[in-house]
Amino acid sequence: MGLITFERSVETASFFSPLLGMKLTEQTIEVRRDPLTGATAVASSELATKEEMFYGTTDWPYAEQQAARTREGCFFCPEKVLEVTPRYPEHVLSGGRLERGRVLVFPNLFPLAALHAVVTCPETHFLRPSGFEPGLLAEELAAGVEFARHAEAAYPGLEHLELCCNHMLPAGASMVHPHFQVFGGPGAPWLLRLQWERAAAFRERHGVSYWQALVDEESTRGERAMGGRAGWTWLAAYAPSGGREVMAVLPGRARLTGLDDDQVTELARGLSKVLSWYEREGLSAFNFSLCGGPLSGAAEAHAVVLRVVARSAFKPDYRTDDYFLQKQLGGELIFVAPEQIAAALRPEFGAA
Ligand SMILES: [Zn+2]
Repeated sequence: MGLITFERSVETASFFSPLLGMKLTEQTIEVRRDPLTGATAVASSELATKEEMFYGTTDWPYAEQQAARTREGCFFCPEKVLEVTPRYPEHVLSGGRLERGRVLVFPNLFPLAALHAVVTCPETHFLRPSGFEPGLLAEELAAGVEFARHAEAAYPGLEHLELCCNHMLPAGASMVHPHFQVFGGPGAPWLLRLQWERAAAFRERHGVSYWQALVDEESTRGERAMGGRAGWTWLAAYAPSGGREVMAVLPGRARLTGLDDDQVTELARGLSKVLSWYEREGLSAFNFSLCGGPLSGAAEAHAVVLRVVARSAFKPDYRTDDYFLQKQLGGELIFVAPEQIAAALRPEFGAA
């Protein structure tokens, strides 16, 4: 038996349904638990037909209109970016900002951690998900990693350091202009800390890394694994933490700053495929987080892990995809089974 347990339970809801002439009907609900954290995700046969109601379909003419309306005066566009964005002190970054190819990195004006930087391509005011082509994504991710190296050297007390993204309003972005964020400080967010604690306990108990065990188990089973290169394994999460969640796991590294050029290139290539698929499915807004282990302590239990989720599609009257379940009780809905997500994306990643 493998070391990873894919736990699930089934419950039934019964009622007299007006949709069936008030006959007694039963709906089956499946509750899945994440093998690391125990986080729950719920699927039902009825939910499969409700994704459109929850997530909707992007209104692209409306999105283009918003992009055009916000172009003039945009703080991240070339006319303004060097004038109005903050700079780091010289001991953090010589020159105050990091420039790498088309990409610029500078401090967030309203930081939510000791280290909170913006990574953006000033020339690109608006992008559909498919516009994050592998070359551009690789430049942006590499700039984020390079900045993380400066940050680790300049802030000795850092405990956590992530590369994250909110893209478009329904995903929490305040700017239309695409940007990523490097986020780190001494006080790790609770979920990240829980994952670290569980991963450390797993290694203590079994003598192997949870992430390596997960990759091995998922690759053997095959139903959610998609393939991967340069050490990455792409998976549909068993108990997803958001809409159409896809993960990339790199067990051999525990810090973002440990990624080599090949690993950044392959991460960009895979992420670009997932984002293009979101767009083909009518979606537009998304979040991703690229996280490592704690910056202090042993590295063996941890991995660099990307999680990307789709959010409510951008349209004039979009509704949030979070409600009491996600915000207060903890849990997520599964509209598209992880196994179906993997089946849809697997040909793109080259796995059988
Ligand atoms: Zn702009």
